[in-house]
Amino acid sequence: NDSFLRGDFTAEDEKELSLRPATLGEFLGQPSLKENLSVFIRAARERGEALDHLFLAGPPGLGKTTLAGIVAAEMKAEFKATSAPALDKPKDLAGILTSLTENSVFFIDEIHRLKPVVEEMLYIAMEDNEIDWVIGQGPAARTIRIQIPHFTLIGATTKAGQVAGPLYSRFGISFRMNFYETADLEKIIRRTAGILETSVTPGAVARLAMSARGTPRVANRLLKRMRDFAQILGKSGDGTVTEKIVEEGLGRLEIDEYGLERLDRQILATIISRYNGGPVGAETLAISVGEAIESLEDFYEPYLIQRGFLQRTPRGRMVTDLAYEHLKIEAGERSAD
Ligand code: ATP
Repeated sequence: NDSFLRGDFTAEDEKELSLRPATLGEFLGQPSLKENLSVFIRAARERGEALDHLFLAGPPGLGKTTLAGIVAAEMKAEFKATSAPALDKPKDLAGILTSLTENSVFFIDEIHRLKPVVEEMLYIAMEDNEIDWVIGQGPAARTIRIQIPHFTLIGATTKAGQVAGPLYSRFGISFRMNFYETADLEKIIRRTAGILETSVTPGAVARLAMSARGTPRVANRLLKRMRDFAQILGKSGDGTVTEKIVEEGLGRLEIDEYGLERLDRQILATIISRYNGGPVGAETLAISVGEAIESLEDFYEPYLIQRGFLQRTPRGRMVTDLAYEHLKIEAGERSAD
């Protein structure tokens, strides 16, 4: 896997859990989200109540899991995390809900993937702090209601549009996370470099932030790879990540000044050469570039759209003039295709 933007949590990330900010103050960027959230947290704490259920939507790697952990820490509450595919049966969910402590934070990642039977149990738990539990079988079966502790559900998703209305409506707080500003990414890179005890020149920080796709996770991963290049290929011998190292490193990883990877460019080039610039349906496009549709929609498209290379229209995906320009395809070649 040569991609820097995949959302998967890798073994390497696991080792670097210390990179995760632990408090809202350490969480950089996303100013309006942070301000509002800190008010809601303080208010709930003053009342001695659990925070209202919180919905977080946005592309992978923007810190949704990190933020959920921070909410628990700020609420001084216990934190439990799982993801929807792990909650296969109602009993999986019931097992967690009945073991929660009062006012704890329960995080479900990929909440758009919950099965309907599990989702139904969650509705009642969110609203009434109870679950329906069926005991016995056949004609002797009966349902009992079990009281569960008050808790804060934090649901995260990359696909807000796929979350069922009745589920979404039970969240009292909802934030859509956006890609980070370059200035905030610079701060995140400097913070990470400090924790990793790596020295990075200001020019290198700026260049990395530009290529980090507005995503802290990508920024941190790129920094780690540049640290490798600096250590092995650096001329200075002290492992400093310089702008020159970053230029060379990004070149070797085929990441351009917009943060586009090879597959991003392949997506744009495919739409141009095979579909005349589009529109082309997402499924057809995914097959053409040999990627799963999920990763196309979750990892690649949001950034291409945000940077103005791609448009989503009712008839499918279309490239913009900027894509032609970036791939250096002249108008003549366009019509010649
Ligand atoms: P998501 O759940 O949205 O996919 P995530 O929460 O899993 O994202 P992380 O893997 O936690 O993303 O984030 C990757 C790394 O980026 C974290 O280890 C953390 O160091 C860093 N990070 C994320 N957001 C921030 C932030 N706002 N400020 C500082 N560091 C951040």
